[in-house]
Amino acid sequence: MIEQQKRKPIGILLKEKGIINEEHIKFALMEQKISAERFGEILEHLGFITQYDVATTLSEQENIPFLDVDEVLPGKKELQLFNKNICLKNVFLPISIEGNEISIVLADLFNLENIVQLITRQTGLRPVLHIGEENKIINAISANYYFLENPIESQIDKEISLLKLDIEHARGYDKFIHLILQYAVKMRATDIHFRPMEKSLSIAFRIDGVMHAVLIAPNDLLRAISSLKMKSGIDIAEQRLPQDGRFSETILNNDYEFRVSTIVTEYGENVVIRVLSVSSSVMGLSQLGFYEEDVNQVEDIFNEPFGIVLLTGPTGSGKSTTLFAGIRCLDLMKKNVITVENPIEYRIPLLRQTQVNTKAGYTFANAIRYFLRHDPDVILVGEIRDQETAGTAISASSTGHLVLSTLHTNSAIGSISRLKDLGVNSFLIADSLLGIVSQRLVRKICPNCKEGYKPGNEEKEYLGDMNIEVLFRGTSCEVCGGTGYLGRTLIYEILKVDKNMAVMIDKNEPLDAITGYAVKHGFHDIFSICCRKVIEGVTTVDECKRVIGKMRI
Ligand SMILES: [Zn+2]
Repeated sequence: MIEQQKRKPIGILLKEKGIINEEHIKFALMEQKISAERFGEILEHLGFITQYDVATTLSEQENIPFLDVDEVLPGKKELQLFNKNICLKNVFLPISIEGNEISIVLADLFNLENIVQLITRQTGLRPVLHIGEENKIINAISANYYFLENPIESQIDKEISLLKLDIEHARGYDKFIHLILQYAVKMRATDIHFRPMEKSLSIAFRIDGVMHAVLIAPNDLLRAISSLKMKSGIDIAEQRLPQDGRFSETILNNDYEFRVSTIVTEYGENVVIRVLSVSSSVMGLSQLGFYEEDVNQVEDIFNEPFGIVLLTGPTGSGKSTTLFAGIRCLDLMKKNVITVENPIEYRIPLLRQTQVNTKAGYTFANAIRYFLRHDPDVILVGEIRDQETAGTAISASSTGHLVLSTLHTNSAIGSISRLKDLGVNSFLIADSLLGIVSQRLVRKICPNCKEGYKPGNEEKEYLGDMNIEVLFRGTSCEVCGGTGYLGRTLIYEILKVDKNMAVMIDKNEPLDAITGYAVKHGFHDIFSICCRKVIEGVTTVDECKRVIGKMRI
């Protein structure tokens, strides 16, 4: 291991690796004079680097393995060995003990020798080190110690008993709702469902794309739905029509926006809350699951000077995450990037970000018109879903600007007909469309309980390769909550529109013919990427079927 005094500053390491350049450093130093933040923090806030870049760079430099903190669950007895504040101060998290060794994940290498001494002194065990992303470690320390002292399930049970006893209805529902939000965040849920049933209220979470029932509460708690509506700015007197609202709340030191929608069912109002983390840091393309050769393709498309780039996929398929990962490949120092979003999920100071305000008349289409007078190089439009936005976005892209947006279609090639449906003529599509990335998210096999097995014929047939000898699956463990899966990765297809394909689009040639041409020129469809990830042991055939369907696309 390198001696403390010889360790290179992270800025230099990142520059050597080509992640940042001299100009980024100069700009960050100017910013530092005003903001007085740490240099690395500034580089990150400006969108030049991610914490993943920092952690993996340090990991390579020091030869200490990288660990994704989201993929581990620290044991109770390990947590109890340390005081939470010591962990926070030194940014390390104990994970597990095996024999006379204790696994630790940490972020700050300048303090490495002190942390190693501290752990050895405190536990008498030999620390086995891993490097993780600092923000994830800090969040994990706060959350794990909080839930160690305040087990969430028993807090919710206690609150429900108190609410049941409260015949006068003097006790509010705010605490109950807050506990459910906390529970959802702990479970990494993306959506929270309040489902009134005949005799009870069922609460379910969508985690990694799959619904999980988490709680059945007595019918009395249906009153919580009125509180939720009030909190979200929804008219509580209206109980017959679907409504939408939103609220923001800080959960375990992180800011979240909750998008609320109601529909009326036979047993009462059904509420779904979409959980959006406001402080999420932007990730890189390879971290999201793009293969290295495809990262280059996507970077090429995003670096075109004008035209339109579309991200497609269903709601919740991570389109805006990819859009922002793509924006990170742009040289933000040299380009004026303006966005209109609904809502702003990732904040990057070097972008000019705006948010739709329908009530005030600030729509996607209007925003693009204003932007054209604001000297843009790149315009990001959160979503194209109507004729007006489609028309304005395409005309902006054919007048010398790069337009980035998302569209709801099932496949990359389907975007062409979708744009036609939205009234854009074939000539304009051919003239401006640069490329389409269509994507879905599949769950990854839990690394903690992953095992190989001999696949049956049906699975081999599905994958189109009868010679496969081994596939992988999760057997279920505490870390993955018994599901065998942990976290998600992208499956995708990238359609690059070259000159010949543009001619085909212009001539209104059938989509089959365009697909045929694309395949001949190296296009891989989403199914083939998914199969590759199954064969590599990243995900499973079941997961592939769940997301893409049982029929080959
Ligand atoms: Zn597991």
